Amino acid sequence: MDSPALDIRHLDVVYQVRQGLVYAAHDISFPVPRGKVTAVVGESSSGKSTIIEAMTRTLPPNARVRSGRVMYGERDLLSLSESELRSLKWVSLAYVPQAAQQSLNPTLTVWQHYEETARAHGARWDRDGLRREALRTLAMVKLPGERVLASYPHQLSGGMKQRVLIALALLFQPEILVLDEPTAALDVLTQAAMVELLKEIQAQRNYTVLLVTHDIAIAGELADYVAVIYGGELVEWGPADAVFQDPQHPYTQGLLRSLMAVNADISGIQAIPGDSPSLLAPPRFCRFSPRCPLAFDRCHRERPFLHELGEARRVRCHLFEREEASHAHPV
Ligand code: ATP
Ligand code: SF4
Repeated sequence: MDSPALDIRHLDVVYQVRQGLVYAAHDISFPVPRGKVTAVVGESSSGKSTIIEAMTRTLPPNARVRSGRVMYGERDLLSLSESELRSLKWVSLAYVPQAAQQSLNPTLTVWQHYEETARAHGARWDRDGLRREALRTLAMVKLPGERVLASYPHQLSGGMKQRVLIALALLFQPEILVLDEPTAALDVLTQAAMVELLKEIQAQRNYTVLLVTHDIAIAGELADYVAVIYGGELVEWGPADAVFQDPQHPYTQGLLRSLMAVNADISGIQAIPGDSPSLLAPPRFCRFSPRCPLAFDRCHRERPFLHELGEARRVRCHLFEREEASHAHPV
């Protein structure tokens, strides 16, 4: 594989809460290939947003990155100074957080949001130049530019607000777009239109997209690569076609079986039985073992390594001990 746009290495994040530590992201390692869409999938509270917030340095104050690196070329995003980070964000890497629609200021028009964004990131356009760029980016997300620029957020639908946020993120033509649940707050039809739009935008400039979604069907539509997160750990990573057609980790297999059951409307076949683990004091052995149909003795005693199966496939499961092609990452 060519050098990735981003390389997340052994990322470990905890939250301090009254009862102790929430182990929200543990030993997360996967590359984000350049010019491709990588989807980070997993059920609610599995740690997806924590990974994204750590790499974009937007974690809340009670979070602590205990270890890990996020390499952008030779630079580690986690070690950059605030000013280095400011000059890189939006210009090289733009991030639209989850539920960002609410972050639009109700007292500002969309045009004023463009002005604020341009000012905050030291853009050199004059008023006419910025207006041209605003219209260009709004056209990319298929919104009627002049009308939308004059609108306040409350005058736009949820789908339009989401598009405005993506348009703002495209203002500096960043190399990497990070989108946390861009379809979550939308109805089914608007979701489908958003998926098509994201496909088109990505293809136009070959953006590197890192997309967080709990909806594996959306990942299936959009992603070239998939990182499957379970209980704060990466359990499988690889090319989307390979992962969807031939999932290796028992959790991914269960997830896809339940999706097929829903699609085929097969009653009697359930989503994976059992509950996801509490991330306050999670087990020191395999976090999926209480729900895993293939669990054996060792699974309840030892945490599995993240095994590499060839160059572009990783699976965290004891079953792959003997099959791995190269070295494993110790936990
Ligand atoms: P969702 O799809 O629901 O947003 P997620 O997969 O993105 O979920 P995270 O939001 O990263 O998951 O949460 C991972 C774990 O960290 C969860 O147990 C969550 O309750 C916990 N968590 C998240 N933010 C905080 C916080 N500020 N303080 C304490 N715990 C937190
Ligand atoms: Fe299942 Fe064991 Fe693999 Fe965990 S390590 S996923 S319990 S087989």
